[in-house]
Amino acid sequence: MAELKARAIAEIEKYTDECKKISEEIWNNPELDFNEHKAHTLLTNFLEGKGFHVERSYLGIQTAFRATFGDESTGPNVCVICEYDALPEIGHACGHNLIAEAGIAAALGIKATLEVYGAPKGLLTIMGTPAEEGGGGKIKLIEKGAFEKIDVAMMVHPSPANIVKSKTLSVMRLEVIFHGKAAHAAAFPWEGVNALDAAVMTYNSISMLRQQMKPTWRVHGIITNGGTKPNIIPELTKMEYYLRALTKGEVKELYDKVMACYEAAAKATGCTFEVTETTPFYEDVNANPTLSNLYESNAGNLGIVFAKTDVPRGSTDMGNVSYVVPSIHPMYKIGDGTQTNHTREFTAITNTPEAHQNTLTAAKAISMTVVDVLTNPAVLEQIKKEFASGIRI
Ligand SMILES: [Zn+2]
Ligand SMILES: [Zn+2]
Repeated sequence: MAELKARAIAEIEKYTDECKKISEEIWNNPELDFNEHKAHTLLTNFLEGKGFHVERSYLGIQTAFRATFGDESTGPNVCVICEYDALPEIGHACGHNLIAEAGIAAALGIKATLEVYGAPKGLLTIMGTPAEEGGGGKIKLIEKGAFEKIDVAMMVHPSPANIVKSKTLSVMRLEVIFHGKAAHAAAFPWEGVNALDAAVMTYNSISMLRQQMKPTWRVHGIITNGGTKPNIIPELTKMEYYLRALTKGEVKELYDKVMACYEAAAKATGCTFEVTETTPFYEDVNANPTLSNLYESNAGNLGIVFAKTDVPRGSTDMGNVSYVVPSIHPMYKIGDGTQTNHTREFTAITNTPEAHQNTLTAAKAISMTVVDVLTNPAVLEQIKKEFASGIRI
């Protein structure tokens, strides 16, 4: 087993420059939700060139792909996930160019172990998942059956710290529209129904509600339409809110409280309102304990020291995957710990030599973990047992 792990590591090191180049190109060409055409082409061409069987626009999702190597009739089907979408205006501020880099590097490392004569076999699936930042690409892939034959799924994510047992949050994204009545704001204000007042009251009510929320709950929103002109009483306003908590059940609890704020604001101002869910619900990550422990030990052997923290870190559609197949989503550190995801400062550090190096270390740890799964049937059995009985980290 140690030999196979060493082989995976050596292979990743051999392709350091090529993997880095792909990552740099994705970083230089940030693309948004479901429009990651350049990244899709780069990654699929790369994997095809390295001997993978590539399916572009997988299951009809234009910028999704699947690349496979091996044979599932001979062993487990192990999936490594790539993301590659960026954020509006601030580019690769979540470092998904690095997630793609880790995915292709791990792909090469694992493929090398599958090629060793007499080694345990199986199928390696590299899943290219678009639109993590709001579009729920993985949810679409789940709905289309992409994860049906997969035994375990893994990915890594850059962050300000190394965290293997991190908590993530379920998230519901809502748009609320208040409908009022336009009127001349100076001549006949009493004829109007002010939809901006409803939005402001909502904002303030939710800000007060925050005092009574659990420390792990998050509600954050913006006004996306606040009216058209100061001399017209706003007849329509729009707000977007994200509601997050540790579990789906808690998000529902929070939803009822937020709905009460919308209703109260509408009632007080005389507006009507409508609420829609803008994107699919992201589940919290149901991380598998055995896979997490294996990753922790393999990364530890590569010199990674993990931070102990209970602070929840955002949300991801990998959460949905983790309820379909046993999964992990460890965070690995880039930068000095002061740069945080979704900032311009983070964008600046997602294309540095240090970030590429740490990404490849994470890819090595993933490859080593896959070797553990492929070479020891008892490990996979334990992972599946935990998953079936709902045991999580
Ligand atoms: Zn993000
Ligand atoms: Zn991200």
